[in-house]
Parts: sequence; C-alpha cells; structure tokens
Amino acid sequence: MTALEEAVPDDPTDALSPVPAARARGGRLKFCYGPMDCGKSTLALQIDHNHARQGRRGLVLVRHDRSGAPQISSRIGITRRATEVGTRTDVRDLVRERWAAGQHVDYIIVDEAQFLSPAQVDQLAELADEAGIDVYCFGIATDFRSRLFPGAGRLFELADELQPVQVEVLCWCGLPGRFNARVRDDEILREGDTVVVADTEQSVVESSASARSDAESTTVRYQVLCRRHFRLGDLGPATAHHGQLRLS
Ligand SMILES: [Zn+2]
Repeated sequence: MTALEEAVPDDPTDALSPVPAARARGGRLKFCYGPMDCGKSTLALQIDHNHARQGRRGLVLVRHDRSGAPQISSRIGITRRATEVGTRTDVRDLVRERWAAGQHVDYIIVDEAQFLSPAQVDQLAELADEAGIDVYCFGIATDFRSRLFPGAGRLFELADELQPVQVEVLCWCGLPGRFNARVRDDEILREGDTVVVADTEQSVVESSASARSDAESTTVRYQVLCRRHFRLGDLGPATAHHGQLRLS
C-alpha cells in the first residue's frame, strides 16, 4: 500500500475527513458507446488494466455479458471476472460491501451498460458525485429498432463525458455502422423484445459474431448498418453480410 492510499479516509463519504486531492472533486461519469463488434469490451478491459496498474482499485460490473457468466469477455479473447448487476441490484450496495470489507473503490467499470435501469445509472452518478468514484460505462446506444436503450438514454442525460467508440465497424456500403439491425430470413425485424433472453438467443443479444458461430440454426442474427440502409432495410448483397466490405 502506498502512502497516498493510506491517506485516503476509510469512509470517503465522511465530509469531515481530510480529503486528498483526488477526492476533492467528484468522480467522472463517462459513457463510451458504439455498435456491436466495435471493441467496447476490449476497451473496458484495457481501462481496468491501466487503472489497476496504477494501484487503483476498481469494481468491474456487467449486465448480461454475452458469455452468460459474470465476466467481461471481449471478442479478441480477453476475459475478466466481473460482478453481475441484477435487475434489482442497488449499485451503491456493491460499493458499500467493499467499504465494509475495508477496501477503497477508486473506479467502477460497467460493461453492457445499456441494460442498466435508469435508476441504476442514477446510483452510479451519485457514487461519482458523493464518493468521488470514476465511473466508466460501456454499451450500445440504440436497440434493433433504433430506439435508445433506457440505460443508455439515462447515461446520455447524466454522463459528464460521452465518447463514441468507432473501431471501423462498417455497413456493407462502407459507411460507419451505427445501428444494430435484428435480422431473420434476410428481413429486418422492427418489432419484438428489446432483450432476447431465451438460451438459444442469449448470444444474439449483442453479438453477431456469436450468432454466427454457435447459433447457425438460429435464424435471428444482428447486422450493423449505416442509418440509410437501416432505414431502407437494405442488407446489401448476400456476400456482404455481417458488415464486411465487398472487394469489387
Ligand atoms: Zn450502408
């Protein structure tokens, strides 16, 4: 433990404690958003790694990870155990448990943050403001109907910083992909549940890659499209599915 950390009061909410510079300000609430396959989970794990390397202690949370287990799993093969946030979880309780165990929480990372409830986003904002915790949320902005997820909408309202993550996820036409179209039998579905929870389709919630690999028999898949082709329902030439560019 470094001298700096020893100087941090056990209860960061105690306004009468001497507060180190890092806690004199509120924490920051940041939302990094983008379409599926854009590398959000990889970025989440990288930020956790960077903070942990500086000796900061974090809480890594996830809602509905694509693996079905409480962990953050990126498509490039990195995983990290995480705490699953349930529908009724009060995120502040997760932090209080750490405090009760004598641990500080310097930062919180939430993957699949679009599935948070608006109330849980409010709890994260409170943790940033009142406990000086930096909160990094990663997720998708809009669902397959191009409507904001409730959690993402609340993050747009409250976050200090909004950062689009765009790691070259392209529509078949070559424009940046912005919308996750839900597709069955080469038709875009515009009605249905926002969160598909059936076992066979769990991987389809946010993942075209998983849908391809382990659910070939499932006819529902996701495809990233630009706004124009999402509006028109144009999935492109058959060979250009799954966001790939044509070579011609
Ligand atoms: Zn397009």
